[in-house]
Amino acid sequence: MRIPHSLALLLAAGATAAAQSPSQDPDQAAADRMLGHVRVLSSDEFEGRAPGTAGEELSVNYMRQEFLKLGLLAGNPDGSYVQGVPLVGIVSATSASFEVGGKTLTPAILNDYVAVSRHVAPAVEVKDSEIVFVGYGVVAPEYAWDDFKGIDVRGKTVVMLINDPPVRDPNDPTKLDEKMFKGKAMTYYGRWTYKFEEASAKGAAACLIVHETGPAGYPFAVVAGSWGRENFSLQTPGGDATRVAVEGWLTLAYAKSLFSAAGFDFDALKAAAVQRDFRPVDFNAKATFSVANRMRSLASRNVIARFEGSDPSRRNEYVIYSAHWDHLGRNPRLKGDQIFNGAADNALGCAGILEIARKFSNLPAAERPRRTILFLAVTAEEQGLLGSEYYAQHPLYPLTKTLADINIDGMQRAGPSRDIEVVGYGNSTMDDVAAGVLAEQHRVLVPETDTEKGHFYRSDHFEFAKVGVPSFYTNSGLDIIGKPADYGRMRRDEYVASDYHKVTDEIKPWWDLRGAAEDADMLFRMGLRIAQGDTWPEWKPGCEFKARRDEMMAGAPH
Ligand SMILES: [Zn+2]
Repeated sequence: MRIPHSLALLLAAGATAAAQSPSQDPDQAAADRMLGHVRVLSSDEFEGRAPGTAGEELSVNYMRQEFLKLGLLAGNPDGSYVQGVPLVGIVSATSASFEVGGKTLTPAILNDYVAVSRHVAPAVEVKDSEIVFVGYGVVAPEYAWDDFKGIDVRGKTVVMLINDPPVRDPNDPTKLDEKMFKGKAMTYYGRWTYKFEEASAKGAAACLIVHETGPAGYPFAVVAGSWGRENFSLQTPGGDATRVAVEGWLTLAYAKSLFSAAGFDFDALKAAAVQRDFRPVDFNAKATFSVANRMRSLASRNVIARFEGSDPSRRNEYVIYSAHWDHLGRNPRLKGDQIFNGAADNALGCAGILEIARKFSNLPAAERPRRTILFLAVTAEEQGLLGSEYYAQHPLYPLTKTLADINIDGMQRAGPSRDIEVVGYGNSTMDDVAAGVLAEQHRVLVPETDTEKGHFYRSDHFEFAKVGVPSFYTNSGLDIIGKPADYGRMRRDEYVASDYHKVTDEIKPWWDLRGAAEDADMLFRMGLRIAQGDTWPEWKPGCEFKARRDEMMAGAPH
């Protein structure tokens, strides 16, 4: 039978659409709307959206305007769409010397080491502080692990290794022990933020981490680049004086020479540090640091909008969607392109929460959720999750009434996928909610593949987790419909190698945001289900954040 040309085209188009989506039409209109938001937020006019710049003004106004257009209410009980986030920016000029083995070593800043002081003080001095090597610097009762072994490190300079201890499986030494520090996956004990927090808690004067490119996931130049610039912290009443006075990194090569000057072999001590019975090693050496800080205070903002719940007895309970609006700004020292547009990171996540907000505002009255939905676009994520930390420390609504945070940082750009990855898979009951929604989409939930990168600790949901609120965070799926099997992996690796935190994080001609639209729809339905449900999301037994939530909720029946 001869098929008319136009009908053949229709059939072909139908066949393609059927092959591309297992369940529903990909939402091209949503993809177009999201791309439109990314176009604006990642434009050069927004100058890379750095806190405290004209780019902040434009970004905050854009998010507020878009929430207003959707009919969302002011998220701050004071009647505004913003929450002030007071930051302090510090540029440290540091010099250091080590008295070791009868010699004075003077490492070269940026070449051998980088160090700053986050004390809000113009001058910070650490003099003749004893140097102690403390292995991985980890105190983890659940693994019966304590690298300090009760040694008093007050006033001392502690030197530690990067990552969590890579303990070998006693039955198969080719693998890491899954029962210790989650095997290959990174636990919070492996994050450098943890190490400085632990050194601070122990009262050390200075803390230096030995950088290694493999375990860090990035070369020393990346550390030197970001630590050599202005660093931001939240303004605190005590000016961060309880933090370790000097925090920094040594290059691996310099660490090896320092260890050998003290009469130790770096590799031998590193091997010893993987043993539970490791004890801190006194270098019989002294460190001196002199830091001059140039400081400025800066009033940044989180943007917050509210979609009011329909049930008067439940509307004082909340589900939060978060995404950071900020990015790295511009670097005038660069030749050529100077603007870090941050299209994927995280203009796209902002587009995601706007699309989700739109779906809520389009719900018929009868389908509006009983509980209230908050949309939180936070500042200064790139400076250390500061906007979300500030919200978690100064919540506008009680955390005991906050059911969950669903965070977006980057979204699928390779097209519709069969899968979506959960970062921190197994942590909370929200995995089950997500799996149910995905099943309706004929898609699947899969555990995160790149667990060694510590993604769970690297975006804003973590600040909610830290204070106990169940939080959910995904990574884009790798199984892209209608593409070769390695296409998703190729795009992800390409992004990490070429565009992540670079001026080239821009909209690419190959972007297909239908997958992002579908993921946004999944997150929307998930939040709707939680906001309607009779059971609150919970951390699963064994999750490191469960105790905090249980303690918080003990006095707050619901
Ligand atoms: Zn990001």
